[in-house]
Amino acid sequence: MTDPLALGLVGLGVIARNQHVPSLAATPSLRLAAVASRNAALEGTPSHRDLDAMLAAHPEIRAVSLCTPPQGRFEQAWTALQAGRHVMLEKPPGASLGEVRSLAALAAAKGLTLFASWHSRAAAAVEAARDLLSGAEIRRVEITWKEDVRHWHPGQEWIWSPGGLGVFDPGINALSVLTRILPQPVHMRAALLEVPANKQAPIAARVSMATASGAPVEAEFDWRQTGPQTWDIRVERDGPEILLREGGARLFVGGVEKIAAADEEYRRLYARFAELIAAGESDVDLTPLELVADAFLLGERRLVEEFQA
Ligand code: NAP
Repeated sequence: MTDPLALGLVGLGVIARNQHVPSLAATPSLRLAAVASRNAALEGTPSHRDLDAMLAAHPEIRAVSLCTPPQGRFEQAWTALQAGRHVMLEKPPGASLGEVRSLAALAAAKGLTLFASWHSRAAAAVEAARDLLSGAEIRRVEITWKEDVRHWHPGQEWIWSPGGLGVFDPGINALSVLTRILPQPVHMRAALLEVPANKQAPIAARVSMATASGAPVEAEFDWRQTGPQTWDIRVERDGPEILLREGGARLFVGGVEKIAAADEEYRRLYARFAELIAAGESDVDLTPLELVADAFLLGERRLVEEFQA
């Protein structure tokens, strides 16, 4: 077996600690060599204040994984690619479409891997749903994605700032699954964005999309849900209904549960990153971010009560 590839992690926040660090420990093809975070350190792992310091101290690092907020990630990714490192981006891959396209072009020019990861696409039942829907006639899709922002994003200000996406930060996970499982492209038709009077980004959104052949795709995103959380995608088609629950971890076909699996999304992402590097390939699908951008382009904006964390 070849030696594991040395990887550096940038941005030691909620998702880095909860998912990236443990998933890397369970990925034999990669080795966490160091972290870079302005205000945090990881016990037992060399920790640096920023990406430049980390790369200078660790020439052996071949790949960098960015777990920082989308705003500012472009500069980090650009620096890492210029320094000859492969790059994995958390979702959403950037704060704008154009910046990610520039990164993809740079990676291609340098012969490096750029992986714009979509963790929800790596949920256990997503590929099975895609297989079931391949060639299906889609009649209607309903997405219900409702969670408690105070629980999942405690004290995070970047999610409310321009480029932070607001409720589309979780909503884009649903869109990443939608655009993976449907056999046809989807486009945005209308959106209603509910924006707290003291914030820049929506706390809730209703979006109306359609498949290329005109089937309605309705989505409801809401960050004000306390109690049980809901991450469902229901697809009506020319056959038994497909229902993905819990963000794609559970699959029901015609009301009968077919898959219920533990969360291994980030292990799959890192295995895929290692495969892409070995194959000399990139994976940059901007479709979910395009849908969000179109929701902002078409969205009617309604001011709602102020949000206090
Ligand atoms: P977070 O808890 O705020 O962590 C991000 C870390 O990045 C911070 O701890 C901070 O560490 C560093 N950072 C660098 N520049 C920053 C800036 N300008 N503002 C704030 N922090 C900055 O965020 P997160 O929830 O881990 O999310 C990071 C990315 O992962 C986002 O793109 C998000 O969509 C994605 N994600 C999050 C979740 C989740 O449940 N939270 C799930 C899946 C994906 P230092 O201050 O030490 O530099």
